[in-house]
Amino acid sequence: SDPAKAAQLRGVGKRYGSRWAVQDLDLDLNFGQVVGFIGPNGAGKTTLIRMMTGLSTASTGKIEVLDTDLTRQTRSPDGIGMVAEHPRFVPYLSARKNLRLLARIRNVASDEDIAETLRRVGLDPQDRRAVRGYSLGMRQRLGVAQALMERPRLLFLDEPTNGLDPRGIVEFRELIRQLAAAGVAVFVASHLLTELEQVCDRVLFVRRGRVLEELDLHCFQEETVRVSVTGPD
Ligand code: ATP
Repeated sequence: SDPAKAAQLRGVGKRYGSRWAVQDLDLDLNFGQVVGFIGPNGAGKTTLIRMMTGLSTASTGKIEVLDTDLTRQTRSPDGIGMVAEHPRFVPYLSARKNLRLLARIRNVASDEDIAETLRRVGLDPQDRRAVRGYSLGMRQRLGVAQALMERPRLLFLDEPTNGLDPRGIVEFRELIRQLAAAGVAVFVASHLLTELEQVCDRVLFVRRGRVLEELDLHCFQEETVRVSVTGPD
């Protein structure tokens, strides 16, 4: 297998009874790349993410993720991070204490790692406020921080900017681009093109489990992000 590839899918299908949730899907995801998956409800994004994270098997085709053949086996390879649409935390603890709790349970990181991870996603490690008082944007960042505790080489994001204000969306895009620049492969699922067009290198348009079109956005996204962050004075 190719060391530059975080994931490679060939002819992947998933059938539930007589119904195909995903059909004949090809996907190449390299480290440092952000690939988007756009489709309406029922397009198959949950099914695809479950297969790529080792939670369910494929009915047809071949799936390789982080050098692990997941076609027929359900097992999560090390190095996978997942940010849910609505990440869950202990509401009465600070961001730092939430991560510390996770670190203890999973035995993954030191206190310095935690402070560094919080800074990396743009949260203040000294902030003592309980997470229940956090804005949606801060919760999303903390969700990413949680996933980063696993030191992922491949990160899955499900509807990441759902409900964020425009500023939050721009900042979130910046964060994703920084992770990609650090070599992380990112897979983002959404039902909105506007959510993905400025953060993805490539976008797959999917409907009823089939890729209708694949769009290469690499040429314009860096420029657009920079302009929208600095803005006119
Ligand atoms: P949503 O945005 O609503 O979560 P999705 O794009 O994630 O949609 P999936 O959840 O992957 O779509 O579902 C794709 C299709 O497969 C749907 O028609 C769904 O009804 C069907 N499906 C998904 N999981 C199962 C299951 N466990 N058993 C039967 N059918 C399923």
